[in-house]
Amino acid sequence: MSKINIDHISFHYPGSDQRETALDDVSLSIEAGEFVCLLGPSGCGKSTLLSLLEGLNQADSGEIRIDGTAITGPGRDRAVVFQHYSLFPWLTAQKNVLFGIRQSGIRHSREEQRRLADHYLSCVGLGSAGGRYPAELSGGMQQRVAIARALAMEADILLMDEPFGAIDPKLRQDLQELVSRLSVEHQKTVVFVTHDIDEAILLADRIVVMEPKHIRAVVPVGFPRPRRRDNIAQTEDYIQLRKHLMSLFYEQVADEIYEEVVL
Ligand code: ADP
Ligand code: MG
Repeated sequence: MSKINIDHISFHYPGSDQRETALDDVSLSIEAGEFVCLLGPSGCGKSTLLSLLEGLNQADSGEIRIDGTAITGPGRDRAVVFQHYSLFPWLTAQKNVLFGIRQSGIRHSREEQRRLADHYLSCVGLGSAGGRYPAELSGGMQQRVAIARALAMEADILLMDEPFGAIDPKLRQDLQELVSRLSVEHQKTVVFVTHDIDEAILLADRIVVMEPKHIRAVVPVGFPRPRRRDNIAQTEDYIQLRKHLMSLFYEQVADEIYEEVVL
């Protein structure tokens, strides 16, 4: 049985025209421990698919099953990290992570909760920043805390929507490599949204290339995980894969421009 089974789902936003489906008959199975990137241009439905996986939106038809059971709403089996820092600004980094520990539903003594919070902060390289408030942390550090909080929820599944979209390139690479390592160490099943081809290749076992409303192609990535950019970026396999993804990605953008100009 797959960990996640997306089975012929269609969805349009309530209130929008029925013909304006955001997703039309999308199916995809994801195995336990797999890292899947949803890659595609803006507006193609990546965040919509993630919101359905999260359980915030319900499909018009079809269903999503996790471990064989159809989901009906958000659950403790899924933790989410968004692009925009979702930390509570009035809580320190440690207390933000404590919130995640309480969300997990697992009962720990207070002392154990604090020990775990410090453990998850050190997993993301912030062992000494527990007493600082989000406003006292850089954007990259805030996203590290958000990742620590998501790990603290002890969910099997991590859903991440362009979590590094607002972070500058050097820090972004550090965070990508961190997520690559943590996803393996903590055996998470990850669905990660991005419009960055290199980010997808660094992270994914499979890249799901989306076009508006549909999956255009599913491309496997053979490099063993976890990955570091320096070890793969110069290889012939990387260059070929990148070319292939570029053609899938840009052909569809070209199709859209053509439709806009001609129709
Ligand atoms: P992506 O994440 O790939 O950029 P989205 O999933 O956000 O794309 O959007 C897919 C489609 O659904 C777009 O046409 C977008 O305009 C539409 N859409 C997204 N959010 C809403 C909403 N809350 N209400 C109505 N339409 C929406
Ligand atoms: Mg989006």
